Amino acid sequence: MAVKKILRYGEKTLREPSKEVHKVSKKIVELVGDLLDTMYANNGVGLAAPQIGINYRVFVIDVSTGDEPLNPIVFINPKIIKKSGSIVSNEGCLSFPEAYTDVRRYKNVMIKALDEKGRAFTLEVNDGSLLARAIQHEFDHLDGILFIDHCINRFETDDVLKKYNLPPIEADKLLSEPELE
Ligand code: ZN
Repeated sequence: MAVKKILRYGEKTLREPSKEVHKVSKKIVELVGDLLDTMYANNGVGLAAPQIGINYRVFVIDVSTGDEPLNPIVFINPKIIKKSGSIVSNEGCLSFPEAYTDVRRYKNVMIKALDEKGRAFTLEVNDGSLLARAIQHEFDHLDGILFIDHCINRFETDDVLKKYNLPPIEADKLLSEPELE
């Protein structure tokens, strides 16, 4: 296991769709270890495989804070099977160092995935919690969707990106989400 370099916004890999995992092999278990090591080394709450340059449908999340014990959750081949409600919150991403902007997300989600041992599990998260939002954020990475594509105000977001020397918004990637209004 190792701490990997996190790709920054502008790298092509972040926009590429990721492949399904056919077997939770030793290689995938190593990938999970690298994702966790890299996420913890960067004080993140989530990290998806494409962010370290590997386009497989795998991400990790840990929303534990302070003195709480670590609580990593591994998602392989995730499927969001239910979503409802909406919430606006300020989000960031390890691929966008220091840049935060308001995005709109579902408040409640139910997700199905495999864990690092290949066991299926279902998780239901409600009330727009950090975990509910992180799941949607990381899931998007697997389809090449980035949090700025959900931004509430593209001009404000562009200012933030500029401030942190990141490329501007890609207008053709902005999502129209009337169901979240
Ligand atoms: Zn991200």
